Amino acid sequence: MFGLNLFKSNIADLLPAVRGKYAYDVSLAKYTWFGVGGPAEVLFSPKDAEDLSHFLKNKPHNLPTCIIGGGSNLLVRDGGIPGVVIKLDSTAFRKISLGDNTITCGAGVKNAELKKVMLDNQIGGLEFLCSIPGVIGGSVKTNAGCFGSSVKDVIKEAQIINGLGDIKTVPVDDLMLSYRSSFFPDDWIILSITFRTTKDSAENIKKKLEEQKAYRMKNQPYNQKTAGSTFKNPEGLKAWELIKRSGCADLQIGGAKVSEKHCNFLINTGKATAADIETLGETIIKKVREKTSVTLEWEVKRMGINK
Ligand SMILES: Cc1cc2nc3c(=O)[nH]c(=O)nc-3n(C[C@H](O)[C@H](O)[C@H](O)COP(=O)(O)OP(=O)(O)OC[C@H]3O[C@@H](n4cnc5c(N)ncnc54)[C@H](O)[C@@H]3O)c2cc1C
Repeated sequence: MFGLNLFKSNIADLLPAVRGKYAYDVSLAKYTWFGVGGPAEVLFSPKDAEDLSHFLKNKPHNLPTCIIGGGSNLLVRDGGIPGVVIKLDSTAFRKISLGDNTITCGAGVKNAELKKVMLDNQIGGLEFLCSIPGVIGGSVKTNAGCFGSSVKDVIKEAQIINGLGDIKTVPVDDLMLSYRSSFFPDDWIILSITFRTTKDSAENIKKKLEEQKAYRMKNQPYNQKTAGSTFKNPEGLKAWELIKRSGCADLQIGGAKVSEKHCNFLINTGKATAADIETLGETIIKKVREKTSVTLEWEVKRMGINK
């Protein structure tokens, strides 16, 4: 059994030697946009894909592992995450290269970093992605989208590594992306993505980026501790309308509250625990179900254990 009560030396002795870094008992609050969450028993930053492959091939069979990206869609529970949390933040995962109407990005590239590349090279088609917080790997897993486009629409292929440490290139259909979801195997980790791009003028690209930024500033909480939309929109309905109609727009539990600007966003006002945020979300689900008979589904990914 792996658990947070394992002594650091015990788990350290079980981990294969790697070229990247292991860190122990690392608070994940600083790695999530909500700013809450307990520690990762081990946080592993592989040096490159081969190092990650070596780790997966040589780790103990029953050692739990999971992957986090930019933490902008995550609610890590207060008891933290047992086992090894992988984060692809070393240089090898942050490379960008241009092809013939394509761009290939490492999983650790921040979506916002694409702005400069697009403007400098007059590449269009990915403007929507630039305005979404997080990194490429997490945005593929969640099939992130806005302004009428999602990642699924622009991917050509992906490089992935499976739980056995085998690296392969797969076409977009194998990722089985749908509305804010993906159904590829749980043990797949995205290493890099090749997107299809179009030629466009820097002027057009800049205009789209500015319009999208202005829309977000006007309609969504800005500079706040949040993970974006909390619930998926049920087919043909808007989660925020259901929340409002069910009298949940002013709800607050502990340090967690519903955003005044957009009631599908939950906010950590400063002193929230993950339990406050999760309880607030569950309370909203219950009230919306009682009032409308619709059951909202979490869009935010919840990970880890309660304290
Ligand atoms: C202010 C704000 C606005 C937002 N607006 C939008 C929006 O308009 N549209 C939208 O879709 N989302 C939005 N989001 C949510 C979030 O930004 C996106 O879901 C984002 O793409 C998540 O990326 P991330 O790197 O932060 O992933 P994380 O939050 O770190 O992880 C999300 C999921 O991806 C998995 N994952 C991470 N990396 C990998 C990898 N390499 N391989 C496999 N799985 C991986 C994690 O295990 C987890 O299940 C918003 C969030 C905030 C805070």
